[in-house]
Amino acid sequence: MTTKVTKKMALDYHHLDDKPGKISVTPTKPYQTSEDLSLAYSPGVAYPCLEIQAHPEDVFKYTNKGNLVGVVSNGTAVLGLGNIGAMAGKPVMEGKALLFKIFAGLDSFDIEVDEKDPEKFIAAVKAISPTFGGINLEDIKAPECFEIERRLKAECDIPVMHDDQHGTAIISGAGLINALDIQGKKASDIKLVVNGAGAAAICCTRLYMQLGVKKENIVMCDSKGVITTRRSNLNPQKQEFATTRDITTLAEAMKGADVFLGLSVADVVTPEMVQSMADKPIVFALANPNPEISYDKAMKSRKDLIYATGRSDYPNQINNVLGFPYIFRGAIDCSATEINVSMELAAVHAIAELARKNVPPIVNAAYHMNKIKYGPKYILPKAMDPRLITEVSIAVAKAAAESGVAKRPIDDYDAYKKELRQ
Ligand code: NAP
Ligand code: MG
Repeated sequence: MTTKVTKKMALDYHHLDDKPGKISVTPTKPYQTSEDLSLAYSPGVAYPCLEIQAHPEDVFKYTNKGNLVGVVSNGTAVLGLGNIGAMAGKPVMEGKALLFKIFAGLDSFDIEVDEKDPEKFIAAVKAISPTFGGINLEDIKAPECFEIERRLKAECDIPVMHDDQHGTAIISGAGLINALDIQGKKASDIKLVVNGAGAAAICCTRLYMQLGVKKENIVMCDSKGVITTRRSNLNPQKQEFATTRDITTLAEAMKGADVFLGLSVADVVTPEMVQSMADKPIVFALANPNPEISYDKAMKSRKDLIYATGRSDYPNQINNVLGFPYIFRGAIDCSATEINVSMELAAVHAIAELARKNVPPIVNAAYHMNKIKYGPKYILPKAMDPRLITEVSIAVAKAAAESGVAKRPIDDYDAYKKELRQ
């Protein structure tokens, strides 16, 4: 269980030791002598420049591109804080850079772009993309985020992933596989209600279809209620999931549903709605920081429920950090040109399978627990599980090679595994 964080604690943490912020740059080559400096910079530096000009792939040999992620945002949808602007979002992007480093050894530059116009934002990110081995788009508002990501994926030759969309889909998809397994249900049979039709909800729903959920069994709601084909002025993403069913409210949609996925706002689900769901239901109430229905209310409403949130203080946290560091690690290490659906699904299954394996003592100790075990309150691995890097990165790199997008496929996975453990 986590300690309650106060405003003072958080502000103190961010300017601790008079070093404002959370991340810094460290040289990796000798720099003590004048000869070192002549090698690091002019005149010596001209040689690797010319090598890269002649053989572009040598950029991975002579620069940090192969270990560097750009965490790029325009600050239009920061956490649950909304459109707070590029600069105000910087602590989040620095935080993401910290997570990339500690979990996957990847360096990151956080890049805050003060540009809301999608075309200009796309042009800015594309123009700086040669710097990086991969680009993690972050906290960009819907529906613009869909087109921004689609275009950057198509136009950049490095992996680009909007983590609020795909990270959430991958982790919750892994949680769904396991929750369905524990409840004894099949993805192809379930009735799914999705509350929210923004960045995360749309992408999760698309991925759940890849896992077998049938479109005719999905009802999606937004702030105006059920998205039906009778509604006008729907954006293309909402149209994709509009139902022909003659219902208008979330309460009606929840009746008999097997799975509820909330990516909307706090407190919109009542205990009665949960009680109206099918036997052995699954509720992923992921609105942050306060879920669609609280843990206590949901768990009191019925005994046969599997419940997850985005929070670390309850069981089953749907935490994107289980995915993005390792997905980028695997994709960048084989110079994948993109993160495609095969790689996403490989990550989903690797994460789901890891939760079914015996939990090593080091993980139990990290959480002050002694018998973490696959079941209704442990459907996903813990964030501090040291096996994530090998399981997820290798699965992603293999899927990249098999789907033909790895420019430098890993040739020895055993050696790669050892490298990842270091
Ligand atoms: P977003 O793009 O702004 O989408 C929010 C969606 O919620 C919109 O479609 C909005 O409807 C809908 N909505 C608002 N009020 C509603 C209501 N009363 N009933 C039904 N739908 C309602 O935001 P997002 O990035 O997808 O994130 C959504 C939420 O999920 C946030 O709280 C976020 O923190 C959380 N989240 C959690 C995780 C995690 O736990 N791992 C990951 C990602 C996101 P309209 O389209 O009508 O405006
Ligand atoms: Mg985010």
